[in-house]
Amino acid sequence: MNNERPKILIVDDDRRYLESLELLLSAHYEVITDSDSLNTLGIAMSQHPYLILLDLNMENIDGYQVIRELKQNLETADIPVIVVTGSHETEDETHCLRSGAVDYITKPYNPEIVKARVHAHVELKRQKELLKTLSYQDGLTGIANRRYFDDTLIREHRRCRRAGLPLSTLMIDIDFFKRYNDIYGHLTGDDCLKLVARTMLAQLNRSGDLLARYGGEEFVCAKQIAEKLRSAVLDQQIPHEAGIDGLITISIGAVACLPTEGIDTRKLLMLADSCLYRAKVSGRNRVEAAACSQASSDQAVGNV
Ligand SMILES: [Mg+2]
Repeated sequence: MNNERPKILIVDDDRRYLESLELLLSAHYEVITDSDSLNTLGIAMSQHPYLILLDLNMENIDGYQVIRELKQNLETADIPVIVVTGSHETEDETHCLRSGAVDYITKPYNPEIVKARVHAHVELKRQKELLKTLSYQDGLTGIANRRYFDDTLIREHRRCRRAGLPLSTLMIDIDFFKRYNDIYGHLTGDDCLKLVARTMLAQLNRSGDLLARYGGEEFVCAKQIAEKLRSAVLDQQIPHEAGIDGLITISIGAVACLPTEGIDTRKLLMLADSCLYRAKVSGRNRVEAAACSQASSDQAVGNV
């Protein structure tokens, strides 16, 4: 987002306002306009605008309803909404701000005030996004950190449980990495970590979150992905004189489950960890996988 112009969505059923706002803002922002509020949620979800300027009185769905829908949807809840409306009623303004709008501008508007307020909210949003990225990123490797993983796992667990979808978790560890650091030094160790992380990331079709989460597929798929990661790291042929066959390798514990009340994220992680342990004790450079169900979850998990 550094050099790109931030994207702004303007929704108004009066085309004159759409055009004048677009004219006003298009010098500094990439502007998308929408005259039918039926589309707003869909556009917001697919385009991820930085900010939405929203009319209140509209033909199909009124502005209040649009704000509600945006705020209830996890993908759009964080997009700031500025209401731009002909209503000068204090009640409307209060209601909008209480519903989650960040600002309220009345028509006819003063162009300079609109520009200044849009600028202020875009900057706030930009800083918020930057902080979020930094707080969710592992400083060394650039992939998602533990906090992001924990948050994602809880969210996905909830989503999969609601939708009846299976969820898989892989616990991955570099074999004999302490020895690697002892032999080659910590700087080389850091380089190795970065390369292994990059290698695994390149195997995943979607960005970062998949390193933390595998969902919606059968167990076999989790095992296949784990095997793919294992062989991709092996293929890098990173020398490690105290490693398996003189190379850097990884061991993986993979667990798939159908999330239920009896299987929480803590249990899922414990099971993945015990699979990883099995992979370690049975020779490393391998995947140990298991499936669990509520019935079997109190016991050790079964092999697949
Ligand atoms: Mg209107």
